[in-house]
Formats: sequence, C-alpha cells, structure tokens
Amino acid sequence: MSESTDITEIRTAVRQLCAQYGEDYWLELDRTRGYPTEFVSELTKSGFLTVLIPENYGGAGLGVYEASVIMEEVCRSGAHAGACHAQMYVMGSVLRHGSDAQKQKYLPAIAAGDLRLQSFGVTEPTTGTDTTSLKTTARRDGDDYVINGQKVWISRIEHSDLMVLLARTTPKEQVSKKTEGLSAFLIHVGEAEGNGLEIRPIESMINHHSCELFFDDMRIPKENLLGTEGAGFKVILDGMNAERILIAAECIGDGRYFIDKASHYATERVVFDRPIGQNQGVQFPIARCYAEIEAAWLMVEKAARMFDAGEPCGAEANMAKMLASEASWRAGDVCMQTHGGFAFAKEYHIERKFRETRLYQIAPISTNLILSFIGEHVLGMPRSF
Ligand SMILES: Cc1cc2nc3c(=O)[nH]c(=O)nc-3n(C[C@H](O)[C@H](O)[C@H](O)COP(=O)(O)OP(=O)(O)OC[C@H]3O[C@@H](n4cnc5c(N)ncnc54)[C@H](O)[C@@H]3O)c2cc1C
Repeated sequence: MSESTDITEIRTAVRQLCAQYGEDYWLELDRTRGYPTEFVSELTKSGFLTVLIPENYGGAGLGVYEASVIMEEVCRSGAHAGACHAQMYVMGSVLRHGSDAQKQKYLPAIAAGDLRLQSFGVTEPTTGTDTTSLKTTARRDGDDYVINGQKVWISRIEHSDLMVLLARTTPKEQVSKKTEGLSAFLIHVGEAEGNGLEIRPIESMINHHSCELFFDDMRIPKENLLGTEGAGFKVILDGMNAERILIAAECIGDGRYFIDKASHYATERVVFDRPIGQNQGVQFPIARCYAEIEAAWLMVEKAARMFDAGEPCGAEANMAKMLASEASWRAGDVCMQTHGGFAFAKEYHIERKFRETRLYQIAPISTNLILSFIGEHVLGMPRSF
C-alpha cells in the first residue's frame, strides 16, 4: 500500500511550491478578498493544474489519482484550493465532448497556461439542486444562440477566460426525460461581459470569488455548443465524478492540516503544568479524527483508481466526497477546540480553514443528495424526487 516514487515526487514538488506561499499570504487574501494570481499562475506554469490534459494537447496525461494528490497537498499546506481547482476538471467537458476543432483551439492553450477555463455555470437561484428544472434558456437564432436567465454562486468567473454554461434548449414539458433538452456551451467571458452578461460578486463567508450572473439576450456563436444540442446534462454529469474525487482529496488535505496543527499544539501548549495533549480528553478526539481522515482517504483512493481505470465510480466518488467532507469538518472542529481561545485569532489561520472546509458538505453537491444517490441507485430504495 505504500506510495510509488512518482507520487512521492509529486507530493514533494507541490509542497515546495506551496511553501513559497505561506499562510500569511492566504490570510491577507482572505482579508482583502483578493485572488491568488501569482500562486495560480505558478501552479499552472509548473504543470500541476493541467495534469489531466492528455500529452498530445500539451498536458501531463496523468490520472485523477495524481491530480488528487496535488489538490490534497495544496490544501494541506494551508492554501485554499477553491481558487483554482476547477481549472483541473472543467476542461474535461471539452476533452470528452468537444469537437476536434474545439479541442485543438482550447486544450493546448489551457495546458500552456494562456487560457483559464475554471468556471462552470449550473446553479440557479430558484431551482438550486433541482438542476433539470433550471430556467436559463438558449434559443437558436440563425448562426447564434441567444441566452436569457440567471445563475448564482458561479465561482472564479472574474478570473476565468472561459465558462461552461448549462441552459435549456427545449422546454422541460416537451422532452420525454427531464435530463433531455439541456445544452452545454462554452462562453468567452471577456466578450460576453457587457454584451448581455452582467456579473455581480456575492459577499460570502469564504474567499471563493463566487458571483451572480444575469443573461439578457446574450448571443454566442453556434460553434460554442459543447457536444450535441439537448445532451448537455451528460456533458456536465460526466465531469462530476472527477470533481467530487478532487474535492474529496482537498478535504483530506484540510483534515491532515487540522490534525497536524492540533497534535502539534496539544504537544506544545502547557496548562496545569503539563502539555494539554497529555489529557486524553484532548488527545483522543485528535486521534479519532486521524483515523477518520485515513479511512476517508482510502475511499478517495479507490474512487480515483476506478475513475482512472475507466470503471463506473459514481457511488465511490460520492461516498468519498461525503466521508472526506464530514471528516475534515470534524477535524476542523477538534482543531478549534484544541486551540481554545487562540483558535479565534486570525493569525493562527485555523478559523479561516474551518470556514473554508465547511463548504464541501454543501457544494458542489450536498450530503443529502449524496445519501439520496446511495439510497436509490446503490441500495435500490424508492426514489424521492
Ligand atoms: C461558495 C460556493 C461556491 C459555489 N460554486 C459554484 C459554481 O462554481 N458553479 C455552480 O454551478 N454552482 C456553484 N455553487 C452552488 C452549489 O453547487 C449549490 O449551492 C449546491 O449544489 C446546493 O444547492 P442550493 O444552494 O440551491 O441548495 P438547495 O437545493 O436549495 O438545497 C438546500 C438544502 O436542502 C437540501 N435538499 C434539497 N432538496 C432535498 C431533497 N429532495 N431531499 C433532501 N434534502 C434536500 C439540500 O441538501 C441542502 O442542504 C457554489 C456554492 C457555494 C456556496
């Protein structure tokens, strides 16, 4: 079960890169709501964000397993990978469903770091998790599609050249299955903004650069359709397993970060003339979190290996995301408790990571929806929606 030399080398290289961007760098960005431009550029130029792009398009052609290790290390260093993780997997929509012309046009530029495709527009304010009920429409008009509607929580769009957008091309009432009639499009953000697209940042609990989007007769050329018209749900769905595995790996990184911090502090901090970690009431919760994170990592590893082997891994990817996000949250809570009042001091960085890791029980899919997937699709119990 020991890791290969290649994986150890990846870990070491990512750690070295992240070490140049210490926790004060992330704290300052959190305070100012800034974007880690230098960090993301360096991670991209070093090839880490483009490992999933095949070699013939200029990427490293590695698997989701290697990508998971990269994301884990980024989070373990104290960084917030939410600023850049989507650059790894959103391009999968182009890779799997794009035409040859689209692949040639976009993938080498993404691999070279000249183009950012790290935004995807699915969620809407009125329909939320019920994706197939989304209300944004794309109407064909000559050589264009005309987009109208609204999206919410669309992250990193202000720092992305391209976005993958999901919109309805055929009304839900006119399709036999609700997943039909949706289409995916590539949007050039710079061209669209001010020409039918309005972007409004959302003030939120973490520095995730999420925005509301408003589409008012926004025109895009028909060449920007990804895959076939009406089959866009599959374009989005196909990318979800990779996304869930990578997010799960980030949670493992967060969890290991919290456990490192907590065990170190419990060993150093002396109260009542002895290290607080000598008290089993302090020590055991940290040890339990360690066991939970290690167990969750096994599921992440399994899901990643299955994904890379081309095996169906929906259940494993979902379970990995659920287990890892819950384990990282518990580790964050225990880390807070171990640090006592100092956990609240920003200079200790824990409260920021605590806020950041909370997201992953809600996005990109909430725990309830994962349990519903397991209940219905794995265990064969009745559908609830
Ligand atoms: C910081 C941040 C960044 C995000 N980035 C993006 C992005 O880049 N692109 C994008 O498209 N989206 C993004 N999202 C949206 C995210 O994917 C959604 O918030 C998430 O999927 C949940 O949808 P919702 O907020 O509409 O919750 P709702 O669908 O309103 O659900 C609310 C709660 O009810 C529960 N619930 C709903 N229906 C059921 C049911 N039938 N059974 C049991 N429980 C149910 C849910 O589990 C959830 O806990 C982001 C969100 C956040 C907060």
